[in-house]
Amino acid sequence: AVDSAQLIKIINHMAQYIEENKDFLTELDAAIGDADHGINMAKGFKAVSEKISSMEDKDCGTILKTVGMTLVSTVGGASGPLYGTAFMRASQATGTKDKITFEDLPTILDAALEGIKMRGKAQKGEKTIIDSLEPAVKVLKSSSPADLNLLKKAVDAAKDGVEYTKGIIAKKGRASYLGERSIGHQDPGATSCYIMLKAIYDALE
Ligand code: ADP
Ligand code: MG
Ligand code: MG
Repeated sequence: AVDSAQLIKIINHMAQYIEENKDFLTELDAAIGDADHGINMAKGFKAVSEKISSMEDKDCGTILKTVGMTLVSTVGGASGPLYGTAFMRASQATGTKDKITFEDLPTILDAALEGIKMRGKAQKGEKTIIDSLEPAVKVLKSSSPADLNLLKKAVDAAKDGVEYTKGIIAKKGRASYLGERSIGHQDPGATSCYIMLKAIYDALE
């Protein structure tokens, strides 16, 4: 199980991966958007890391809520409210627990997915965050036991989801303005979501 101190470490690991992939994510967004996804996410997660650094004595739900609120208020662009809602829904699903177990993970990530779907009104196949997150959640919900091995399969499914975005037309967000010209490019948001899931796995491994 993951306690508050470990949850903070996992989120800091996400922040580190986002920072390392800042230029890559921005390049992806340059091709089909406005070249700011890496900048937006790195700015948001830098603020998140600072905010949560002193929260070891807080419960897991409170930490996740702080992450969500910080992302909403610091990330400009579509991805801020979307990921912010995801973390706030994850917080609600977690409640005031002091520890999160592997058995909790499918429910928490499903709540995050539903939050993004509600906020962005997107579904699978529209070249968004959903295209990597939904396959990962599906894996987590469809099999047991929920353990590190299953999480690995979920991360692999998210990676396949990122590949899948290369072949489809964007229907949501700025990339949708390109229509068919969005084909051939991988979606920045699907990619950042995969990176965050990979960060969870790597932090737990
Ligand atoms: P902006 O497009 O405002 O500059 P970002 O560049 O930070 O915001 O984020 C772009 C990403 O947001 C896209 O690659 C896509 O994955 C995601 N996105 C945009 N709109 C939606 C939506 N309605 N639902 C889910 N994800 C979305
Ligand atoms: Mg952008
Ligand atoms: Mg923008």
